[in-house]
Amino acid sequence: MHLGPCLLSREEIAETVAALAREISDDYRDRVSEESPLLLVGILKGAVVFMSDLMRELSIPVSLDFMAVSSYGASTESTGVVRILHDLDTPIEHRHVIIVEDIVDTGLTLQYLREHFKSRGPASLRVVALLDKPERRSANVAVEYVGRAIPDDFVVGYGLDWDQKYRDLPCVRIVCDDEGEGSV
Ligand code: 5GP
Repeated sequence: MHLGPCLLSREEIAETVAALAREISDDYRDRVSEESPLLLVGILKGAVVFMSDLMRELSIPVSLDFMAVSSYGASTESTGVVRILHDLDTPIEHRHVIIVEDIVDTGLTLQYLREHFKSRGPASLRVVALLDKPERRSANVAVEYVGRAIPDDFVVGYGLDWDQKYRDLPCVRIVCDDEGEGSV
């Protein structure tokens, strides 16, 4: 396995994040305030880089929380089993909440999270994902804000890992097999 060229450059990521932030700010400007800010919930660890850039581009009051769920580990295939490793610190009842995801693949993680969050009575619940692999979807789950749709390849960088490596890469790159083909 080796890393292929950049699928999304630093500049393309920055433009995508800025466009998402403009759309979200416009949608929530009349619904949130300093007293009742938009609550961004980042899904650890992959969403950390995206969330830190996104929050600084938003032009509305925000507060933050995080949730950690089980991920693929050393494999690149979803097990479909979602385990909460770290829960929210903040009650979300009556809050406007946006779940911040790095990437939506099968949608199984998000399907679970949406149900879990809904049962806690937020005023509203939406999802923003930097990347989406629509070809891989097996759960019928809504993603209100999508940065970029990408092909069915396993990608790393900008927070996304392969076995905990490569999260620090500034661009998004495809993991290739040794013949140079993108792999999942
Ligand atoms: P899903 O439940 O939608 O299949 O998977 C969601 C999670 O799987 C993402 O939040 C991410 O952690 C991981 N994931 C899915 N596709 C990729 C990928 O191409 N690269 C990396 N690094 N992680 C992925």
